[in-house]
Amino acid sequence: MKIAFFDRDGTIIEDYPDEKWSFITQPEFIPGAIETLQQVMQKGYKIIIITNQYLINEGYISLQQYEEINKKMMEELTRHNVEILDVFYCPHSRQEGCDCCKPQTGLIQQAIEKYPAINLNESFIIGDSIVDMELAIRMNIVGYGINVEVPDEGKDVYKIGKVIEVLEYID
Ligand SMILES: [Mg+2]
Ligand SMILES: [Zn+2]
Repeated sequence: MKIAFFDRDGTIIEDYPDEKWSFITQPEFIPGAIETLQQVMQKGYKIIIITNQYLINEGYISLQQYEEINKKMMEELTRHNVEILDVFYCPHSRQEGCDCCKPQTGLIQQAIEKYPAINLNESFIIGDSIVDMELAIRMNIVGYGINVEVPDEGKDVYKIGKVIEVLEYID
């Protein structure tokens, strides 16, 4: 099973400064994101979202707020025939030293445990943050960083300008 691991905030829906998240009730989709997800599915990938939500344990949003945004996002994606296999999130604060806050590898490990058929060699990670690319490097997965300066030395991580540009790279 080949997986497209998508970051959520800043990749599928808009991201905001931490303080502003407290007031967000509606996900705003990033232009091209839904089409990208549709096309990625067409290419035979299953989609898993992996998202750092330190906003929860750092008190910017409640778990309920997180779930509400996620639910609305999923409903909109369903309307566009996008199937999300699963969402794995890290609720921990950055001070907690958990093993799932990207670039820690816990979210991917959780995904592999739940779906042992995942083949990382055929999978990729896409995100708008350096932590997404560091995670790709740690897990030896191909990475696509949206406006992220990626380390070049022989690593399989590539800088793209917009989420939809990933379609030019994948089979
Ligand atoms: Mg992001
Ligand atoms: Zn965590």
